[in-house]
Amino acid sequence: MPNIAILPDNLINKIAAGEVIERPASVVRELIDNSIDAGSTRIDIEILHGGRKLIKVSDNGAGMERADAVLCFERHATSKIKTEKELYDISTLGFRGEALAAIASVSKITLLTSTRNADVGTKLEIGPDRKKEIMDAPPTGGTTIEIRDIFYNTPARRKFLKTVPTEMSHIIETTVQKAFAYPGIAFSLRHNKSELLNAPAVKALKERFGQLYGNEMADESLEISAESKSIQVSGFCSSAELSRATRSHQFIFVNKRPVKNLTINHAVNDAYRDIIPGNRHPAYFLFLEIDPEKVDVNVHPAKREIRFERPDDIHRFVREAIYDALHPKKEGSTYLDTIPGEVDHSRQDYSFKERGRPFVSESPVQFNESQTDIFREGITAEISPFFYVGESFVATVTDRGLLILDQHAAHERINYEKYLKRTSIESEPLFLPLRIELPLKEYDIIVKRRELLSGLGLEIEDFGKNNVIVRSMPKELKKAEMKGLLLDVASGILEQETSGIRGGTGEEELLKNIAARLACHKSVRGSEYLNNEELSNMKLDLEKTDDPDRCPHGRPTSILLSMNDLQKMFKRK
Ligand code: ADP
Ligand code: MG
Repeated sequence: MPNIAILPDNLINKIAAGEVIERPASVVRELIDNSIDAGSTRIDIEILHGGRKLIKVSDNGAGMERADAVLCFERHATSKIKTEKELYDISTLGFRGEALAAIASVSKITLLTSTRNADVGTKLEIGPDRKKEIMDAPPTGGTTIEIRDIFYNTPARRKFLKTVPTEMSHIIETTVQKAFAYPGIAFSLRHNKSELLNAPAVKALKERFGQLYGNEMADESLEISAESKSIQVSGFCSSAELSRATRSHQFIFVNKRPVKNLTINHAVNDAYRDIIPGNRHPAYFLFLEIDPEKVDVNVHPAKREIRFERPDDIHRFVREAIYDALHPKKEGSTYLDTIPGEVDHSRQDYSFKERGRPFVSESPVQFNESQTDIFREGITAEISPFFYVGESFVATVTDRGLLILDQHAAHERINYEKYLKRTSIESEPLFLPLRIELPLKEYDIIVKRRELLSGLGLEIEDFGKNNVIVRSMPKELKKAEMKGLLLDVASGILEQETSGIRGGTGEEELLKNIAARLACHKSVRGSEYLNNEELSNMKLDLEKTDDPDRCPHGRPTSILLSMNDLQKMFKRK
C-alpha cells in the first residue's frame, strides 16, 4: 500500500479556499471582480449579519450560458485566459479560475444568470450535499450570486470570524476600494436592509471620491496626476496638515487592482519626508496604470501583491508625482512654498529639487534605556529657565543634569491620563452643533461607538448619510480639529478591532486608545511656544502622572543627560 494519495477534489478546493477566501470580505471581492470582468455597469451588494448569513452580489453584466454556469464552480474553470502567453498580459481581474470553486467548497450557493437577450435563464443551487441542482429561471440579463452560511463546513475557519462590525468594516473597505477604482460603474451596498452606499456611475475620479469619502475630503485633498511613456499615475493625497495618526488611509491600485506594495509605500513616504513628522502618516489613494507586461500579478493567491519589472523606475516616478502634488509650482516662479522662512519669497531661479534637501541627521545619538526612565527614579529640580531646542524640544538644566522634554509627548501623557481617569474633563455643549461628514467606514464606527465617546465628553449623534452631529466636546479641543480627531479615533478603533494588538478589544482597551487620540489632538503641537512658567507647570504635571517617562504611544517624553553621561561622551571617563 503506498502512503501517498492524490487528494480528493473537494479537499483540494477547501485547501485553496484557505488561501483565497479568508473572510466574508474576500467573497465580496471575488464576486465584484467577476462582475467587473463581465462588463457590468451596475453592481449591487447585499449583506446580512456581516456576511455570515448572506452575501449577495447582483450585476447587469454579460451573464452565462447554461453550460458555463455549470462549469464555473469547477476548479481552474475560467473564460479569461486560454494560453500561457495570455498569462503574461492579463487585462481582467480574474484569471486563475479558483474563486468560485473555493467559495462553493465552503458555503451554500444560489446562482441566477442569463446572457443578454436570452429567452430563458439558469438557476443553479449547491446545497450542503454538494450536488448541483439546475433549473430554468426568468432571464435577468446578468448574474446574481447568493452565498449563504460561509464556512458552515469548516468550523476552524468559522471560529476565526470576527464580530459583525469588524467583518462589515472589511466588506465596506473592499467595496469602497472597488468602487473607487471603477467610477464608471454604479455600486450599492446594503447591510441588514440599511443602505450603506449608493454611488451612481460618474465620469471623474474626483466625483467618485466625493461619493465615497464625502465632498469635503475630496476638496481638501491634493490631486495627483503624472504620466510618462509607460506609466500613468492619478489619485489623491493628503496635504501635510491633514496627515493621519495611522496608515489606514493608504491605498494603492495597480491597473485597478488594490495591492500592497512596499516600493510604492516607500516612494510616497520619501516625498513626504520633510513635511510631516515621523509619527504622522499621509493618506493617499494612488492609481497606477502600467503596461500589464511589466507587472507580474500572479505572485499571490488573492492577488494582493504584485511584482514590477523595474521597481526603481516606479519608485522614482511615484515619488516625483507625489512631490509635485505637494509642492505645486506657482505661476511664473519656481519657488516651492513648503519651507517657510527658508527661501526668499521673491523669485528664485533655482528650484528646491536642484538645491537638494536640507541636512537632516539620519541616525540620532543613541541613548540607552535607563536614560529615558527619568522621573521614575525621582523628580528633578530646574536650576535654569527652559529654552527651546528647535520647535518641540525644551531643555533645562536640573540638579540631575540636562533635561530635555518633548513638549508634545509630555502633554500627551498628561492629557491622556486626564481622559483615562475621567477627572476634570470639561465638556462643553456647542452653541452651533457641528455637522461632520465622514468616510463610510469611519462613520459606521463612530456611530457604533457613540457611547464610549460620550463617556469622554464627546456627544455625538447619527445624522444619517455619512454625517454625524457633534453636540458637545471637551473644552480646549478645537472645532476645526474635530474631523481629523474623529478620523483618528475611528482608525484607532478599527486597527485595534481588526488586529487585536495592544491587548484585545475590550472596552477598557478601546477607551485607552480613544483617550490617547483625544490627548494627542489636545496637546500642544510642535510649533506652539510656551513661556517658562507654562513649561515649568507642564513638567510638574508630567511628574504627577502614572507613567511620566512615556507618551501614550510609548515614545519617551524626556531625556536626561547626567553629568556622568556628559563625562563619558566627552571621553573624560
Ligand atoms: P476567474 O474569475 O479567475 O476566471 P472564477 O472562479 O472567479 O474564476 O469564475 C469562473 C468563471 O465564471 C469566470 O471566468 C467567468 O467566465 C464566469 N463568471 C463568474 N462570475 C460571473 C459573472 N458575474 N458574470 C459572468 N460570468 C461570470
Ligand atoms: Mg474571478
